[in-house]
Amino acid sequence: MFIKSIRLKNLMLVAGAALLGLALGLGILLLGTKAAADPETPDPSAGLPETPAESEAQDAMGTGKPEDGEKIVYLTFDDGPSAVTADILDVLKEKEAPATFFVIGATTERGKSLYHRIVDEGHALGIHSYSHRYQEIYQSADAYLQDFDRLADHLDSIVGVRPTIFRFPGGSLNNLADPVVLEEIKEKMSERGCVWFDWNALAKDDKASAAPAQEMFDNVVASAGDKEKILILLHDDALRTTAAECVGMLIDHYRELGYRFEALTPDTEPVHLVQ
Ligand SMILES: [Zn+2]
Repeated sequence: MFIKSIRLKNLMLVAGAALLGLALGLGILLLGTKAAADPETPDPSAGLPETPAESEAQDAMGTGKPEDGEKIVYLTFDDGPSAVTADILDVLKEKEAPATFFVIGATTERGKSLYHRIVDEGHALGIHSYSHRYQEIYQSADAYLQDFDRLADHLDSIVGVRPTIFRFPGGSLNNLADPVVLEEIKEKMSERGCVWFDWNALAKDDKASAAPAQEMFDNVVASAGDKEKILILLHDDALRTTAAECVGMLIDHYRELGYRFEALTPDTEPVHLVQ
């Protein structure tokens, strides 16, 4: 009986040690898994060029994967200046966030003074289109360049700035222009040293009426996903009465997540829609 109980005790000790070993092993395994999934842990493959397979897998808005691990949001507004530009500028000023305005040809005093405010308050001014008439500007590369130059001259005469950053009306992958014409435009603009930007997140705010700010915000956040360089397309036109509110929400949200806000420059790595 005595011997038996010693044997039993030994057996229990051996079993206990085995269990401990198993638990330790499991713990190490779990730790290893956590380290791999932890975004704070440096990824040894970060900074390496993407493999072709990854590039192929990315959607039209790109992966937005950073080269340097910085988290940046670029707020961009198309089609202004408009009746809501001042409200947008007020929010940007209050929250000290620079942005980029891809503008159209405005001839009213209010429009001209808004060009000034955009520049004076530290935002980037970019070319969208003087007329924004698709049928005219996409007729030929020459027609596009003529419209571009008209706006560049116009802005130069008012605020003394000739932007070299631009956004194609309808984006650079639009079906509004003949693909051959579009390619010719891109070639000529690149020769001039001009840089175009599309977007990799959007508010889907181009409908016939204003969407609630929360809905626009949700659209941006859903389309931005976990990209670390987020280039957001928003619209600055009279219908976008909720745009300023949405902008405030976006700034608060992304700052909380550790992003900073920047205006686009000709040296910013372009975001282009891909097929
Ligand atoms: Zn537009």
